[in-house]
Amino acid sequence: MQENIFTHDHFNTWQVCKGRYYFKYIKKLNWPDFDGDYELGQNFHALIDYFLRGFNVDNLLQDASEEVKDCWSRIKDHPVLHKKIIKTEWGFNSRIENTDNWLTGRIDAIFYDPGESKYIIADWKTGKYIPKKIDPNFQHKIYLYAFYRGRKDLNLDFKPGQLEFQYIKIQDEVSINTISFSADKETEFAGNFLNIIENINNTEHFRSSDCCPLKHCAYKNLCFK
Ligand code: SF4
Repeated sequence: MQENIFTHDHFNTWQVCKGRYYFKYIKKLNWPDFDGDYELGQNFHALIDYFLRGFNVDNLLQDASEEVKDCWSRIKDHPVLHKKIIKTEWGFNSRIENTDNWLTGRIDAIFYDPGESKYIIADWKTGKYIPKKIDPNFQHKIYLYAFYRGRKDLNLDFKPGQLEFQYIKIQDEVSINTISFSADKETEFAGNFLNIIENINNTEHFRSSDCCPLKHCAYKNLCFK
């Protein structure tokens, strides 16, 4: 049966290497190949989620690792964290146009900035996993598209131009990469998603990239060219 539910990792993986896509999503060899600090990311996300829900994080911080404490000390007074919170850890399933294909994912946090009249999708990045090239990355495309399409479920109404996505890097200092949204991008992104899905569905031989694009890949030993 053809897959019809996609995450940003499906599309990013497809774009990086068809062979990797094959092992991961066709053969479903879900082998761990994360070479960053997974625990730091998880613990930090939990801490921020707790804070944004209005809880006191002092107890969590007492038991937190030094890395989590460092990340927290960098972000806690940053203006980004003190805008109006709309949702934290918002899970979505969003249909792509009127097709039978769906996008799924979980957004770290959504804020509203009344001064700018903007909704902001925030994505916390604690490690090296900040997309080097923003444009081809599918995370912001899927999140912008899904949140805009799901706005009425949250009793919100706004124009596409009032929405933006921020990759918020919290490494040595806080730095923010902002991507705007528009009605044209809504159409463009849906077209991108559907094109890739069509390519995936029409592919018989998933050929690995001639020149391996990744330093770490769990499927290296299986890789054929
Ligand atoms: S080792 Fe490299 S070329 Fe082979 S599947 Fe992984 S990413 Fe693709």
